[in-house]
Amino acid sequence: MGKTVVIGGGTAGLAAAYTLERAGADYVVIEKGDFCGGRIYGVEKEGFTLDLGAQFFFTRYHTTYDLMRQLGIYEQRVKFAKPVGILRDGTVHVISPRIMDNLKHPTAGLKFGALSNSGKRRGLKVAIDFLRMGKKLDFDDPLKAIELDNVSAAEYARRRWGDEILEYGIQPIDSALSLGDPEELSAAYGMGLAWYAIAGLSTTTKGIGLLAESLVKNVKNVRMNTAATRIVMENGKVKGVEVSSDSGKETIDADQVICATLAPQAARLLGELPAAMLDILTNVKYSACTHVMMATKGKMIDDMYAIATPRREGLSVAGFVDNANKSPGYAPPNTSLMHCFTYGRFAREMLDWDDARVTRKMIDEIQSVIPRFPDEPLFTEIFRWPEAVCLSGPGQITAVQKLKIGLRDYEGLHLVGEYFGMPSVEAALHSGVKAAKKVLA
Ligand SMILES: Cc1cc2nc3c(=O)[nH]c(=O)nc-3n(C[C@H](O)[C@H](O)[C@H](O)COP(=O)(O)OP(=O)(O)OC[C@H]3O[C@@H](n4cnc5c(N)ncnc54)[C@H](O)[C@@H]3O)c2cc1C
Repeated sequence: MGKTVVIGGGTAGLAAAYTLERAGADYVVIEKGDFCGGRIYGVEKEGFTLDLGAQFFFTRYHTTYDLMRQLGIYEQRVKFAKPVGILRDGTVHVISPRIMDNLKHPTAGLKFGALSNSGKRRGLKVAIDFLRMGKKLDFDDPLKAIELDNVSAAEYARRRWGDEILEYGIQPIDSALSLGDPEELSAAYGMGLAWYAIAGLSTTTKGIGLLAESLVKNVKNVRMNTAATRIVMENGKVKGVEVSSDSGKETIDADQVICATLAPQAARLLGELPAAMLDILTNVKYSACTHVMMATKGKMIDDMYAIATPRREGLSVAGFVDNANKSPGYAPPNTSLMHCFTYGRFAREMLDWDDARVTRKMIDEIQSVIPRFPDEPLFTEIFRWPEAVCLSGPGQITAVQKLKIGLRDYEGLHLVGEYFGMPSVEAALHSGVKAAKKVLA
């Protein structure tokens, strides 16, 4: 086995590199930025743990937990104990997959007011449908849900369950988790997100960043601030990677390349592929997000982890989360760490706003739901993601499958990343591990 170059030190690239490292293979990771982890990005600030990229792991994840076990951090996993709320007509209604939680809350349970009576009756149909389609909704193997690929999540939900379930069930869940609108997602991905969310969420005592940090510690051969500019191929066979860094341009010879960048970035490195394959990569779409976190004294949301705000309620966020409620390690006692989930066109517009304008807008929106939220938080942290989560729109699973088949003609070339599964940390890790195993085989 010769040398492998892994392009991109994000979630998928690190998982591939870690698998190669454990097998004693000859590899190098090249990362264009000055930190590894990509869209898993955790920082500590004034005693608070900030997840500035990915927020949580669904408890249905497999590859993620396997890697955590191998890295010795599985015991630091914490499941979210608190339920979520949903805003309707100015009232927050609590919902939880655990029946007893619902009954404990005065606005929830049998009185669950976020839905009309006919909506509640339809809710039963939704539950039966999900039980039926659940086994097809697999983040690591999207092909199982191929029959849900050609219709949008919005169209599917509206046709099957009606407008109310779309607007007060599917939309808030899908928008909070993908940071897009259900019109932009395939039904396969939109329903997959809801199915995984129902089972529960988890993090670690030190935040999601601990996973990237642990992978980085165990991946020895990384070159930072080094950007791939072209994957060199000859007669359908990988020869190496042209890179550019402060020390200039060079070509790293390689027999195998695992390209773990975003899909459109991969297209730019692979100009020699046929146009039909490049089109698939360039057509992969991403949501945007301006992540806004505000630390405060006192508890802002006592008995819930998050409040979802359906778009019909007229806010520009999909919801607010008190990260202090994720796990005790996130914040000092008696404080809150409010996180605003900007999404859709609002998030895209906000990318160009200055910090003061973003902060004012978010405080106004939080105060419209939680009037006691202070005008001056202890601190505000803003991080912009022009490309946040791959939207897996209608037809993407089918298109990516065509791409996978086309790639079989290219020896030593492996593409990985969240867009190969149902976009998530899980799909990125799974695709990285799978490609590394192929290299090793
Ligand atoms: C705000 C936000 C919230 C999210 N919430 C969740 C969540 O709660 N749960 C969940 O499962 N997922 C979540 N996600 C999605 C999840 O983070 C991503 O699906 C996953 O991390 C993507 O991993 P990746 O390896 O495919 O891409 P990335 O992590 O983006 O890695 C790509 C890497 O390639 C590097 N690169 C690009 N071009 C080059 C080049 N030419 N040369 C060298 N290096 C290059 C980049 O710098 C980057 O490090 C969220 C994402 C965001 C942004």
